[in-house]
Amino acid sequence: MTHYPDFKIVAEQLVQTAQWASRMGWAPATSSNYSVRLPDDAAPAYCAITGSGIDKGTIEVEHILAVDQYGKPIDAEGLKPSAETLLHLLLYRTMGAGAVLHTHSLSAALLSHVARNEGQVQLSGWELLKGLSGIDTHDVEISLPVFPNSQDMQALSTHVEQALSNQRPCYGFLLAGHGLYAWGKDISEAKRHLEVFEYLLQCQREVTQHGHSANTR
Ligand SMILES: [Zn+2]
Repeated sequence: MTHYPDFKIVAEQLVQTAQWASRMGWAPATSSNYSVRLPDDAAPAYCAITGSGIDKGTIEVEHILAVDQYGKPIDAEGLKPSAETLLHLLLYRTMGAGAVLHTHSLSAALLSHVARNEGQVQLSGWELLKGLSGIDTHDVEISLPVFPNSQDMQALSTHVEQALSNQRPCYGFLLAGHGLYAWGKDISEAKRHLEVFEYLLQCQREVTQHGHSANTR
């Protein structure tokens, strides 16, 4: 464990968030991962993240570890960081995130699979869009980028970093047939954004299943 004195508080927030996402049905079969950026005085620890292969329904504080800015574990006591740690790191580096939450919900997997060639899922006309920071009307069009899935995390994180660098504001993206990444300036904003996207993806899924376009333009 890192020397950072408030690490346990951060770890507890991550445990609560991971268990909540599990209860919502967004984290089947040990999937999904969650992290919080640590303050500069925690260096070389850079962020706290859930360990790999942990059931998020029964996750505990002991399953949270610190990694440095390259994703290397710091005094991890047998824990392995999530395989997708590099994607979390790029969002801290590139998008100014303070917390990153990644889920494997059915709606995210399904809609990103359907939209894999289009490269985006567009969300418009929904009242809950106002849950995203800086949005104060339903009358807006938000594009959720869809990137091809890959097991090569280095190549995938480079690709996503380049693609997101000119997207502002942006609080989420999808990996095709895989799941959703959502983030915010801190964990409460990230949770709100995650809940907004999951709800709206479910709305889009219902619209799609009833024979309309995935986009509501
Ligand atoms: Zn994943």
